[in-house]
Amino acid sequence: MFRNENVIIFKAKGDFMIQKPRGTQDLFLNNSKEWNAVEEKFRKVLNVFNYGEIITPMFESKELFVRGVGDSSDIVSKEMYEFTDRKGREYVLRPEGTAPTVRAIIENKLYIQENLPYKTFYIGPIFRYERPQAGRYRQFNQLGVETFGIDSISHDVELISLGQSFLNELKINNDIVVEINYLISGDERKTYEAELKKYLSSFTDLCSDCQTRINKNVLRVLDCKIDGNKFTDAPKMFEFASQENNDRLNKTFIQLKELGIETQINFNLVRGLDYYTGLVFEFKNVKTDQAIIAGGSYNNLVEELGGPSLPASGFAIGIERIMMILKDQNIKVSDEDELDLFIIPLSDEAQFLTNKLLLEARSANLKVDTNWNIKNLKAGFKSAERMNAKNIVIVGENSINSDNYAIKDQISGETTEVKFNDIVKYLKGKK
Ligand code: ATP
Ligand code: MG
Repeated sequence: MFRNENVIIFKAKGDFMIQKPRGTQDLFLNNSKEWNAVEEKFRKVLNVFNYGEIITPMFESKELFVRGVGDSSDIVSKEMYEFTDRKGREYVLRPEGTAPTVRAIIENKLYIQENLPYKTFYIGPIFRYERPQAGRYRQFNQLGVETFGIDSISHDVELISLGQSFLNELKINNDIVVEINYLISGDERKTYEAELKKYLSSFTDLCSDCQTRINKNVLRVLDCKIDGNKFTDAPKMFEFASQENNDRLNKTFIQLKELGIETQINFNLVRGLDYYTGLVFEFKNVKTDQAIIAGGSYNNLVEELGGPSLPASGFAIGIERIMMILKDQNIKVSDEDELDLFIIPLSDEAQFLTNKLLLEARSANLKVDTNWNIKNLKAGFKSAERMNAKNIVIVGENSINSDNYAIKDQISGETTEVKFNDIVKYLKGKK
């Protein structure tokens, strides 16, 4: 940008053009409209499932994620957007939504008995320094649901059925598989981890991430995006699990099936975050092999972050990945954009009356518009068509003098004469 006399000239070419940060998106026109329609549908589902919203800051102390998500996770080890504020405090743009929710629950003492079980959701941007590619952004949006104070098979089933309900609401029926697993813990996990390490030591060509994970958090190796597919004959977690553990997984599987929700048990499903303790699950897009919904239970996190011992579980939906599927499957979620009325003003006085009519109609909840730039009828009709107007009225010398306004119904083609003060009432009557 530079100044030339009194005019500011914007140069939008070459070196001068400022672009959005890598891995981010601008949404406008149909895309922002579809986005809002999806969010509206999600909120509708959350309402009938009786979840209330929690709104937390977009940035948090770095320590929250180091302690909450774990430093062997990809998120903490290499994906956080970190900054130091003017007083030297270390913050990060939130890289996930569960730890902030837990922090807020502890800080605001939402865990008191009369609040439990506490069912809440968040929705908003998440930031991760990842390699951008299809379905993988640096700023993306998650809708997350979390429940505190319940730990049962019925609840696990209800949680997964909530995930399914989000997809049903959007009419996404194809190309999705739901995988579930039940993570083992305590001594059983230790024995399993030792066996897994032994098994992995026969691989000499593992990626560098896997090599560190073997020692830091060996379960995570199974979740590796690069090598994960190589481990088909790895020791199976369920062989090391207690009978109770395996029964729980089987019962969850059967109950979901009886509710019409087909799942697959995947013993290698471990999830990328360190806080999961029991049930883990993913809704996967089989076409891209990417998870669109992922979650599970994390019964130790509240206590680890300084709160009481409180079982918890939840999941997050990647909204961009949902939008990708909708586009791919040609599903339109938003309603057709239609105007109840388009007004064509043909003089200065007509423009004044148009503003009066616009205000009255909009207060009555009618969707109405005009185009102040149009100078003649032809341009007016063109604008009306572009805006998908159901009715058109011309405000010109004749109609003003006679107080007779011809309202043209664009669908039937019929015209009805109405007095200026009755236009809103007439249109309300037609709805
Ligand atoms: P992935 O295995 O694809 O990296 P993840 O295990 O990191 O996902 P979670 O941290 O559990 O994912 O986040 C939940 C959901 O958020 C994912 O299932 C996905 O839909 C979405 N998601 C995660 N990372 C991204 C990203 N970089 N861009 C867009 N969506 C994402
Ligand atoms: Mg990831």
